[in-house]
Formats: sequence, structure tokens, C-alpha cells
Amino acid sequence: MSVDQVDDPGTSTSPTPLGAETHRVVVVGSGFGGLFGTKALRRADVEVTMVAKTTHHLFQPLLYQVATGILSEGEIAPPTREILAKQRNARVILGEVTHIDLDRRTVTSQVLGRETVTPYDTLLVAAGAGQSYFGNDHFAEFAPGMKSIDDALELRGRIFGAFELAEIAETEEEVERLLTFVVVGAGPTGVEMAGQIAELAHRTLKRDFRRINTRHARVILVDAAPQVLPPFGEKLGRKTKEDLEGLGVEVQLGAMVVEVDERGLEVQDKDGRRRRIDAVTKVWAAGVQASPLAKQLAEQSGAPLDRAGRVGVNPDLTLPGHPEVFVVGDMISLNNLPGVAQVAIQGAKYAAKEIDNRLKGKAPQEPFRYFDKGSMATISRFRAVALIGKVRLTGFVAWLMWLAVHLVYITGFKSRVTALLRWAVSFIGRGRSERTTTEQQIFARTALNRLEGGTAGLVSAPGEWNDQRSELAAQRRATLEEQASEEVRLTDTGVRGARVGD
Ligand SMILES: Cc1cc2nc3c(=O)[nH]c(=O)nc-3n(C[C@H](O)[C@H](O)[C@H](O)COP(=O)(O)OP(=O)(O)OC[C@H]3O[C@@H](n4cnc5c(N)ncnc54)[C@H](O)[C@@H]3O)c2cc1C
Repeated sequence: MSVDQVDDPGTSTSPTPLGAETHRVVVVGSGFGGLFGTKALRRADVEVTMVAKTTHHLFQPLLYQVATGILSEGEIAPPTREILAKQRNARVILGEVTHIDLDRRTVTSQVLGRETVTPYDTLLVAAGAGQSYFGNDHFAEFAPGMKSIDDALELRGRIFGAFELAEIAETEEEVERLLTFVVVGAGPTGVEMAGQIAELAHRTLKRDFRRINTRHARVILVDAAPQVLPPFGEKLGRKTKEDLEGLGVEVQLGAMVVEVDERGLEVQDKDGRRRRIDAVTKVWAAGVQASPLAKQLAEQSGAPLDRAGRVGVNPDLTLPGHPEVFVVGDMISLNNLPGVAQVAIQGAKYAAKEIDNRLKGKAPQEPFRYFDKGSMATISRFRAVALIGKVRLTGFVAWLMWLAVHLVYITGFKSRVTALLRWAVSFIGRGRSERTTTEQQIFARTALNRLEGGTAGLVSAPGEWNDQRSELAAQRRATLEEQASEEVRLTDTGVRGARVGD
């Protein structure tokens, strides 16, 4: 049986019996879990359909470098289709999964008003997590998160745009507001963002402007927690804070953000005092919320859901009561596993092996065990912190490790080579190869959010196109014919032009 793409949601979706015909595996998501799960099934006797809402595989850990002009989006987001081109048993479908039907074993996805229903025998869900504003979703308009290429490009536009506007600002107050950058959240992403904005202001851009002194820019890192990088422990947190302060970043801890608007934000300190920080550019790097698909799976299976919206799974990563559904990565709640790439990668490989074992009639594996390979975060060029088991590394050695690990995990040889060149330009020199920004980058998200029906409202539905096109063509033909006969009439009646012989 081929992997069917069914247009009618009413189509029968009865599961294929194991061993009878080619087993259909549907993978939701093209992130770490989705991609590594699909690749791990390359030798299995299955047909894999990956359904994902973007056409690329995103290497999220380097998003901050796209936002600050070091890397291009293509270097951290290669096309999934290209990565899987040689894997004959895998195909890719673009679409946002809106519904998973556990009874009928189908996955429904949508893209620009087109709906696809894909039946499965085994499902691997790896839809990750999005940004959480802790119930204050209106903050998002003024403080973009760091979860997607769109986010990173919007932030790039906002950061470089702030320097441009400051150069033509008329008052000192305005310049200060434009040259104040606030990063909310002192986890690895917040630390990396704050460090890079400080390097931009103090190093990269210092010679490029005439009226403003970019070194006067304020970069503020705020967090309600009492320390920087809590999962790295007290010692590395303190060292990171000192390093950031050495770079000129103001670290404000115990400060909870309670309001965000176009021109700044309000924070509440531990003593209850509220204060305002005027800042045009805000970056939200605090809080994650699992994909809404986790809630759907929990509701249909009776599995628990935690506060971050993650679904509780069995020790073998299957959904309670549904051995044919595996859930991996940032969406799951199991034994306090952290939301890191290795949890998703190892989980997806485990699920792929289990699928293969079942098809071969082998015994189930032992419960999933995560092997912690360590965590690291960069602070600036040549400076990072790393925690590997009990070993704590800081400074240049940690940075070299960061470099090696990221080179290994960036997908594709092309991307590795270009990333290495860009890093040489930015870290040995002071350049940033990717400073291009456009108005669309900065404002399109807000504009699209205001559109009723989103992007689907901007395109015609399938089928509507032909009618519309012939109507438009007829109108255009009539206009052109009218214009042409008027031109002829003007010339022939002598109203316009010189008559031959005059
Ligand atoms: C800025 C940032 C920096 C990070 N830095 C590090 C780091 O240094 N080290 C580390 O280990 N981890 C880091 N992480 C965490 C790491 O990226 C995640 O833990 C990892 O990506 C989780 O993998 P996943 O497969 O669960 O989800 P993801 O990799 O997020 O993939 C989810 C996929 O599902 C797709 N998707 C979502 N919803 C739908 C839907 N409804 N329909 C179809 N497709 C859907 C998405 O488009 C995406 O392809 C970072 C995360 C961020 C955001």
C-alpha cells in the first residue's frame, strides 16, 4: 500500500495490520525529534510521511546568531525535503497539524486553506513547544520571542533598526529609549542574546554611525529568578553574570516583568516596587508552552497535562492507552526531562527503534533513558560556560567546545562550512555578514495577526482560482480593446499626431 494522502476526511482509515502491507508511520514536526526520528527509520520496512508546518529543519540553538546578523537563516534552517531527498521511504508534506484523531488514526493538516488527512499505523509526534508569555499574550506584539526564523528576522530588523532610528532621533530622551535593549529571561537564550547585542553595540557598530555613540547603548537582562542560568548551578551562574557585566550588560535579577508596551516595560522588584524601563527593543526569552497538540492528545487519551502544557507519556514514550502513538521532545512530561535537543533526538531514535523492533517481532526495549551529554551557553566571542556531568568549564575552553559541538550538529556540510566562515568574520574580525533587514521583516507578523483568517485570507481557495482568473482576464481584455480603439480613433480623426502630407 502506498502512503495515502486523502482529501476526504470521511475516507476509511483502518490501520494496516502489522506485516501485511507496508506499515505507515506519520511523523509530526521537522525539528530535532521529527527529523532524527524519520532518519532513524531509513532502513525500516515502513513508509514515513513527515507532516510539518515549515519547509525547513530549524536549528533553534543558533537563532540568536540570525537575529544579531552573524548567520543567515538558510545556514540554520536547511530544507527538510533536501535533507531527506535520498531517503526513499520518506516523504514530506507541508501543513500545520490541526487535529489528530486517535480513534480513526488520522492526522489532519492545513496550509493556506488546503486540508490534508493522512492515515497512520504508527504516529510519532514531535511538535515541540512555543513561547509562553505566562498568560500575557499581548506582550508578544512588542516583545517577540525566539522560536522561529520569523522571530529571528523580526528581531534582527528591530535591533539594527533601533540604531538607525537613534541616528536620526531629535531628542536625547528618544536616543536613550532607542538605544536601550531589554532581554527578558536569563536562561541560555537570554544570556546569548544579551551578550551578542552588547558585542554589536560595543564592538561591531562602533564606527558605523556619526551622530550616536553606539557604545552608550544599554543592554539589560531581566529575570524574576535570583540567578542567571539556574540549570547550570550557582557557580556557573555567578561566573556568567560577571562575564556579562564585563561586557557592559546590566543584569537585573528578582525583577518580574508585569507590563510591556511599544515604548518600554514595567518590572516589579522583589520588594514589590514597580519601575519602568523605557526601551523600544524588547526580546522575550522566558517561558515555553508545549504545542497545543499535546492537549489534544491528553484529552483524547486521558493522559495528564502539566502546567507547561506537556503531555505525560509512558516510560517507553508511548501515549497511555495508545501503544501506536509515540510522543517525544519538548512536548512531553516524563521524569523531569529538560526541554533540550538531545532529549528530542534520543527519544525519537528510541521510538524509531521500537517501531522497527515491533515490525521484526523483537521484544520491546527497556524504558527510555536519557543520556545527558551536558549543557553549554555562549556569553560572547571566545567566552562560554559548559556543564558536562560534574565538570564545569568556563571561558575559551568552553567556547571551543561550544564551537565543536555546534559544528557537528548543524545539518549539512554546506551549512557547516559557511557557518565556520561567518564565525571567522564575526569573531576574529568584527563584521556581521547578515545585516540586511526589511520593513516586512519587522511588521509582517503584526500585520498578518490583524488579518482575519490569517494568510489563508490572502490567497484564493483551490478551484476558485480558475473562475476568478477568467473573469479577471475578460475584464482586462475589454479594457485593452477599449484603449486600443480609442488610440485608433484619436489618430484617424486627426485629433492627435501629424497627418502625412501636412
Ligand atoms: C532559541 C532557542 C535556543 C535553544 N538552545 C538550545 C541549546 O543550546 N541546546 C539544547 O540542547 N537545546 C536548545 N534549545 C531547545 C531545543 O531546541 C529543543 O529542546 C528542541 O528543538 C526540541 O525538539 P522537538 O523536536 O521537541 O521540537 P522542535 O525542534 O521545536 O520541533 C518542532 C517541530 O514541529 C513543527 N510543528 C509544531 N507544531 C506543528 C503543527 N501543529 N503541525 C505541524 N508541525 C508542527 C515545528 O515547525 C517544528 O518543525 C533551544 C531552543 C530555543 C528556542
